[in-house]
Amino acid sequence: MSNASPDDRHRWLLALAWGLLCALILALQWWQAHARQEQEQLQLTQTVQRQMLEKVAQHKAHLTALTAVAPLDAAKESSALQHIAQSVQTIYPRVQEIQLVTAATPATGSCRAPAVAQTAAPLAPRASASLPDSLHPGHYLFLKKIAVPAGWLCVRIDASHLLDEKVLPDGSGLRIRLNGQTLLEPAAKLQQSQPFGAFTLSGYDQPLQVQLLTRPRSLLGWGAALASALISVVLVGVAHLVWQSRQQARRHQRRAQLLANEAQLAHASRVNGMGEMASGIAHELAQPVTALLSQSQAALRAHELGKPELLATALQANVREARRAGAILERMRSYVSNAPSPSQRLDLVQAVNQALLLLEGPARQAKVRLHWKPALPLCMAWADPVALEQVLHNLVRNALDALGQTQDAQAAITISLEQSGDEALISVQDNGPGMTAATAQRIFEPFFTTKSDGMGLGLPLCATLMERMGGRLEHVPGAHGARFVMHLPLDRTDLPSHDLSDR
Ligand code: ADP
Repeated sequence: MSNASPDDRHRWLLALAWGLLCALILALQWWQAHARQEQEQLQLTQTVQRQMLEKVAQHKAHLTALTAVAPLDAAKESSALQHIAQSVQTIYPRVQEIQLVTAATPATGSCRAPAVAQTAAPLAPRASASLPDSLHPGHYLFLKKIAVPAGWLCVRIDASHLLDEKVLPDGSGLRIRLNGQTLLEPAAKLQQSQPFGAFTLSGYDQPLQVQLLTRPRSLLGWGAALASALISVVLVGVAHLVWQSRQQARRHQRRAQLLANEAQLAHASRVNGMGEMASGIAHELAQPVTALLSQSQAALRAHELGKPELLATALQANVREARRAGAILERMRSYVSNAPSPSQRLDLVQAVNQALLLLEGPARQAKVRLHWKPALPLCMAWADPVALEQVLHNLVRNALDALGQTQDAQAAITISLEQSGDEALISVQDNGPGMTAATAQRIFEPFFTTKSDGMGLGLPLCATLMERMGGRLEHVPGAHGARFVMHLPLDRTDLPSHDLSDR
């Protein structure tokens, strides 16, 4: 089960729920049937007891009537007793025999048994008693002592007719005992059956002990099992459908929530992107604006000193920086508008020469030597000259920052150019402190910086500009200092072009 798929688990759970529900419904049905059966059996016992009590009361009444006419018979004045006895036997077939036993009319048949005389003789006049008939199984004798003539009345009763036919349903029967002896047993197939009701008839001198028996029958049939299986299938199916629709509603709700979250996230990222862009513009413009300021201050100084040649140089530098600032803004605009970079066929040797012109001053100030070693006299590639200069400028500025911390007299930055396959590789290597592996992992993340005044946008912007030109910027980890390599697609056409942009 531990490796089961969610679908399998789901199926197992459904089957388990179905089984449990089926068992529960069956148990309920059994409990209902059992309660119903108990109720029916109680009612049957009460019916049997009522009927039998009526019958034994009738016997007592017959004997009372016969006792009243017995003296007349004895005096031979009438044969009323004979008449009444005959009509009783005719109307009530269970009364099999009625005898008046006196010294003059001795008993015959069952009434002659010694036990009869033993039972009847000690009775007080008008008292009655009963005992099993030893000659007729299933019959009992009901005796009543009479004073005139001295003797007793002996009535033989068939116990099997004490109950109307069809009162007992099929599969049930009676066991009747009298004075500790069994009078009547149920049919053989019922003899081992469970008794479900018992009583003793009292009050009419025929203390018959009656037991009702029934064949055990199963309370639940195949029909009930099938019904509970079907009901549980339907219930589990409905519950499953309800559960599924709730799950689906929950999934829809979650999806809607997710979409709302995504929309919020997209909005936040757009806002964030705008901030990033503003920081990027400020970062890139800081260098030309600072240069403009210092060159303008130099120009003012030259003007004060009356040195027109120095003034012209400072103003020329200002023009260059202002153009650069304009070009940066133009790049930023194209970056925002997602427009492709206007790459052109470019001689990288010349382009790097040009870019380094602007970096010589800051390098001198930082007392860092700049080594520029192109391996080839000419290297034609596809690149955007302004973007290329921006990237180179950023890489050299970062190297100068790193070397500024060392105060090393040997501090140097080496820029090299070579070809590899279809690519031109411009590498910027310094011999500064380099960076830790953890720093190296994050340098292309926007806003990652280790400098107190850094913005962490230089390298991410360089990487973007390189990608726009169809190239890439790579940091190559090494033992000494830091090394960045710019990859640019080579232009393989035979005609070299010197169509450099105007700066
Ligand atoms: P910033 O210069 O504003 O910090 P960058 O994106 O240009 O942003 O650089 C990110 C980080 O990369 C720097 O803060 C620095 O830790 C590291 N880094 C870049 N160039 C070098 C280098 N040449 N030597 C050592 N660390 C460098």
